Amino acid sequence: MSRNIAVYPGSFDPITYGHLDIINRGLRIFDEVIVAVAENPVKKPLFSVKERGELIREVLDGNGRATVDTFGGLLIDYVLAKGATVIIRGLRAVSDFEYEFQIAQMNRGISLDVETLFMMTSVPFSYLSSSIVKEVSSLNGPVDGLVPPLVKKALDAKYKR
Ligand code: ADP
Repeated sequence: MSRNIAVYPGSFDPITYGHLDIINRGLRIFDEVIVAVAENPVKKPLFSVKERGELIREVLDGNGRATVDTFGGLLIDYVLAKGATVIIRGLRAVSDFEYEFQIAQMNRGISLDVETLFMMTSVPFSYLSSSIVKEVSSLNGPVDGLVPPLVKKALDAKYKR
């Protein structure tokens, strides 16, 4: 039997409980979810690709069906190379829609073999983003409840606390 594989791509700079919620829900639908950290040189990340991948790996704590990888270049090429057929993306407030709609249409134009699946955020994470987490953490504000403890520790280390 072929395995149903989905790719969940993103910056994950750093991973939050909002991302984790999407991963766990994805695992109820797919045999494997590949969390694919984008090596996007345009965005200036706080954590390197390697650090972001390692944080996700630690947070997932050996859940065999969720794997972590990094990718550069065209997402569709990566997805097809992995033998996956679905891209998972999360949708928060209306503001996510416009951008996600564009990307999904573009990817559909490149390949009809890959489908983008949108999952609505869970209410507690509606306004949670990596950017907000970084902003609050940089000001020494509380991020418990937004990111797992080991991510909070990594943020503290980045901001030299
Ligand atoms: P990108 O830079 O590709 O947007 P992110 O790491 O910010 O990468 O997000 C990766 C994916 O996770 C995106 O589809 C984003 O909409 C989704 N996502 C991020 N935060 C949340 C959240 N709180 N709830 C649901 N989905 C989320």
